[in-house]
Amino acid sequence: MSDIENNIRRLLTPVVQGMHAYHVPSAAGMLKLDAMENPYQWDADLKAQWLAYINSADINRYPSASADELRQQIRRVMQVPEGLDVMLGNGSDEIIQILAMAMALPDASLFAVEPSFVMYKVVADTVGLAYHSVLLKPDFSLDASATLAAVKKHQPSLLFFAVPNNPTGNGFSRDDLCRVIEAAKGLVIIDEAYIAFTEGDMLDLASRYDNVLVMRTFSKVGLAGLRLGMLIGKTAWIEQFNKIRLPYNINVLTQMTASFALRHYHVLLQQAEAIKQQRVWLASQMQALDGVEVFPSQANFLLVRTRKDARNIFDSLKRSGVLVKCLTGGHPLLDSCLRITVSTPEENALFLQAFRVALSQ
Ligand SMILES: *Cc1c(COP(=O)(O)O)cnc(C)c1O
Repeated sequence: MSDIENNIRRLLTPVVQGMHAYHVPSAAGMLKLDAMENPYQWDADLKAQWLAYINSADINRYPSASADELRQQIRRVMQVPEGLDVMLGNGSDEIIQILAMAMALPDASLFAVEPSFVMYKVVADTVGLAYHSVLLKPDFSLDASATLAAVKKHQPSLLFFAVPNNPTGNGFSRDDLCRVIEAAKGLVIIDEAYIAFTEGDMLDLASRYDNVLVMRTFSKVGLAGLRLGMLIGKTAWIEQFNKIRLPYNINVLTQMTASFALRHYHVLLQQAEAIKQQRVWLASQMQALDGVEVFPSQANFLLVRTRKDARNIFDSLKRSGVLVKCLTGGHPLLDSCLRITVSTPEENALFLQAFRVALSQ
């Protein structure tokens, strides 16, 4: 064994040694419908304004550590009520990591339903938090009694509910969530990554309950490349988590670009509206195909189950230059499922054409 291999065995934690790197498939030249990105660009005029604005960036200086200006703007645009504060993360992924690190007591645990956003468990594993989960029902709704029972049994420190949920696309009943929140002695994080594509938010729960915080992100509304997520909750909590946030985690270009984007937020919301309309169209087109079940979605993607092997369909789509997410083989409830990001009318039509070919093979 080489010296490096020896030292890896000797020096790295067993957790790291046992992990697999998070795999992101190459998408060069592909129609990219696998990661819930917003397909729309800004028009030439807006882009020119943005470039002129960031032209004044002081990239020789550290960014603002508190990002006060940007956080104030977020408060206004997202109508964050008095009494709640905002912490920013380099994507919500970083916020999940900050929360887990801050709460990694020896007997603590993290809870999430399954299937849901895989990063919750990945982060629990990396910081050494025990992980508990409860299955969703086959229609992907919350199994409230099983969830309540698990919460009472394990009393996890940190609970995540993505609403709407990824990769299933549905929301969860507000009443059920409130019952879980009231039974939980830990902190409940409501992950609203897909808020732009749904009706109604749950920010009021962060005011109503001391153990609820809401997480959001700019990734799904057109700024995935920026890496900017936010945690909204009672000031006393945010103050604590801020202590372990690395001071310059939001870089100068991200702060300025997000600030610019918030001044033109209606553009992003218009794009989200177009995607919501396309979601309805694409769902009806796919539902009309033989051997395809489309699940209801409040997000910018559709989960479908195919009678034919989903892996073959995935491969056929790939040969046609279309990249989607193949979920079969991951979670038992997602057997023969694919997740498709809703895109522009042109791209959705291209996808549909390739999907028909894939189904006929
Ligand atoms: C995409 C997604 C996120 C976003 O993570 P970022 O790090 O902000 O890009 C968070 N939660 C869920 C459920 C998601 O699907």
